[in-house]
Amino acid sequence: MTADNGQTISPGSTIGILGGGQLGRMTAMAAARLGYRCHIYCPDKGAPAGDVAAKTTVAAYDDINALQAFAQQVDVITFEFENVPSSAGEKLAELKPTRPDPRVLHLTQQRLREKNFLSSINVPVTRYLEVAHKEALPQAVQALGRPCVLKSASFGYDGKGQVRIDPETDLASVWQTMGGELAILESYVDFQREISVVIARGLDGTMEMYVPVENQHRNHILDITIAPARITPAIAVKAEAIARHIAQELKLIGLLAVEMFVTKSGDVLVNELAPRPHNSGHWTIDACNTSQFEQFVRAVCGLPLGSPERHSDAVMKNLIGDDVRDWRAVLSEPSTKVHLYGKAEIRPGRKMGHVTRLTTKSH
Ligand code: AMP
Repeated sequence: MTADNGQTISPGSTIGILGGGQLGRMTAMAAARLGYRCHIYCPDKGAPAGDVAAKTTVAAYDDINALQAFAQQVDVITFEFENVPSSAGEKLAELKPTRPDPRVLHLTQQRLREKNFLSSINVPVTRYLEVAHKEALPQAVQALGRPCVLKSASFGYDGKGQVRIDPETDLASVWQTMGGELAILESYVDFQREISVVIARGLDGTMEMYVPVENQHRNHILDITIAPARITPAIAVKAEAIARHIAQELKLIGLLAVEMFVTKSGDVLVNELAPRPHNSGHWTIDACNTSQFEQFVRAVCGLPLGSPERHSDAVMKNLIGDDVRDWRAVLSEPSTKVHLYGKAEIRPGRKMGHVTRLTTKSH
């Protein structure tokens, strides 16, 4: 049973957001501009989104009483973090319109489920095998060949829970490093580039997407996004068609980031989905008519989607850990937009902010 009867959530209403990180923070800021209030639900005190939201509930994601009380105070519910227990999503969906539908979260919070879904709708992915126990690993490695990548099936984020298996890698110790949980083994993709597409799908099924962008990682964490990606028009068309197909098949209401590899032979393979605003879409705040955060709010509330058209090209750089100490220097660059997330403690690998450098639109 779901409480969603397809209604528009009008400005003046309250959007409930599960998750209190920078994605929630920037969503709440965009929501405020459209006249909405946000109520953040997250397990941590002092979360970045709480600073800019009307209200915050600090409680565990499996605290049914707290979830129920939260649902009573909001008009629509969404997520900025997909690793919320499925039972929480289902409970919330019974009480208030919950967008995207919790089954989308369920699908994308486990890599095997996600890859099986993508394969079932004929979306190209790298070869993969399920590895359920230690004894199954050697055979799977044999089947896919080295190098390959072993990833824990659940709760993967920013390259956590994955190990590359090279010719000399000892399989027993790799399995232990991974914690011995259900895993997925993937063929290693010797990619030319990593790209992503952020697409929105509204209540009426309308879709709008941003131009494909190029992503460069450092220590498995997104470092730089280049918009637009340096790819041929044919590859861009392929990537866009894949994103549209996935959003349609998911019957998504909200925002979806599709992370993809472009291979040296020009194939496009999907690596991962995120049904929420995405780090590779931060550039849209400063370079597009409608930012990904505003688009997310529009989609979730059933408003007409905005134009994703860009007025500038952009390079977004994450400020990770100590990078943020350079805030004074970046603030003095004339074409650079600085975004700081208000996180009190600097930690290695922690996303503290980002900067977007704008240049004249190329084509
Ligand atoms: P993920 O956690 O799946 O998003 O992976 C994080 C990063 O690891 C990706 O953005 C890639 O740079 C790299 N990676 C993940 N899977 C593969 C793969 N099968 N082949 C090559 N590189 C990969």
